[in-house]
Amino acid sequence: MTDCLFCRIVAREIPADVVHETDRTLAFRDVNPQAPTHVLVIPKDHHPTVAALAHADPDLLGAVVRDVSAVAVQEGLATEDGVEPGYRVVTNTGPQAGQSVDHVHLHVLGGRDLRWPPG
Ligand code: 5GP
Repeated sequence: MTDCLFCRIVAREIPADVVHETDRTLAFRDVNPQAPTHVLVIPKDHHPTVAALAHADPDLLGAVVRDVSAVAVQEGLATEDGVEPGYRVVTNTGPQAGQSVDHVHLHVLGGRDLRWPPG
């Protein structure tokens, strides 16, 4: 039993609305969506931050980013060969950026006009 929330979602100990899955990655809807589409894409293995993942397993980081692209197409935020209508990928790292779950996750946000800079 782990106390990592996202490891428990991977293990199906906590339910989630899964939208995409591969052998090494999982994508599920954020429980508190900030846009019409708000999906979290994670590696199934536990890594605390994107930097830690990049150092420990760059192939897995590549798989996560490929899954972001797959989710964006599946959710109608982009086409296979284009970027319309578009989406944003966010990864909060550390307390000042608001990271609240210590298992790296890429937020995929879309379905509305997104302001810049973010808050
Ligand atoms: P962070 O704040 O670390 O950048 O993002 C963590 C995200 O996880 C938040 O957007 C939050 O809404 C989401 N979240 C927290 N607990 C759960 C949960 O139990 N299920 C799902 N699907 N999302 C969660």
